[in-house]
Amino acid sequence: MIAAEKYTNETITWSRAWTPNLFSFRLTRSPSFRFTAGQFARLGVRREDSNALDGSGWRIVWRAYSIVSATYHDHLEFCSVLVPEGEFTSELERLTTGDTVYVEKNSYGFLTTERFAPGRDLWMLATGTGLAPFVSILWERDHWRTYENLVVVHSVREGAELAYRDTIASFSSAPEFVSLGAKLRYLPIVTREPYSETLHERIPTLLRKGTLETAADLNLDVARSRLMLCGNPSMIKETRELLAGQGFATPKRLAPGTLAVENYW
Ligand code: NAP
Repeated sequence: MIAAEKYTNETITWSRAWTPNLFSFRLTRSPSFRFTAGQFARLGVRREDSNALDGSGWRIVWRAYSIVSATYHDHLEFCSVLVPEGEFTSELERLTTGDTVYVEKNSYGFLTTERFAPGRDLWMLATGTGLAPFVSILWERDHWRTYENLVVVHSVREGAELAYRDTIASFSSAPEFVSLGAKLRYLPIVTREPYSETLHERIPTLLRKGTLETAADLNLDVARSRLMLCGNPSMIKETRELLAGQGFATPKRLAPGTLAVENYW
């Protein structure tokens, strides 16, 4: 149970279904809500509960969601799968524009570039809805100034799940971003259906074979590459082990790192 003074009541202003099981939505944003690109918010929805301890007949169910939108947008955007019989997403699915979602006042998470040693290439490797924080990171102009190359790798089962494909493409043609210096490379992966113009194998396999480096036309190198991983926990485990073997490491208390990870469920 989270005390009422720790969250704000926000309103759904927009939603978009990418597939029957994958959707994005926007909420109003309290002017006092602050976050760093790559962080997540905790969202709450009301759910009927005849056993609620306070006798109200309902309680709030909370889940963590990475923020897709920019730190300077006046809304908060999120992307979600519909978890079969999921306590949270089955309620969320019922809600529509104008309905209330609770947002905890604090933001959370360490999938941010702040704790990296300076580098030249920022690699963002995602599966499924793990792409969300990387869209927020792309919106941040500082990243376009700081890095020479921004690489987004997005692995999904089916092509229709390549959410934000057009948004990512539009960054590359937006003078307000590309004029800042960085070059964006977007490498979509579709693993479970034939799909043209994408890679087809899982991220660790592509890393092992060197295919991602070839596709990005960049070498992975501790001196210049900074890597972020977000999504399926088993992808993260395998990829992290692989990268550790090449010398990449998460930040330690005093030492900035070259790798940052966020398990998505
Ligand atoms: P997913 O199974 O994570 O697949 C997305 C991509 O990740 C696919 O390309 C898949 O490749 C790849 N992948 C899966 N395991 C991997 C591994 N060990 N190493 C490397 N790549 C791997 O699918 P999803 O559609 O995003 O989500 C699947 C389920 O996870 C959903 O049914 C949902 O319930 C749950 N989920 C829960 C949450 C949550 O917050 N609770 C969030 C997201 C997803 P393959 O096609 O080869 O498997």
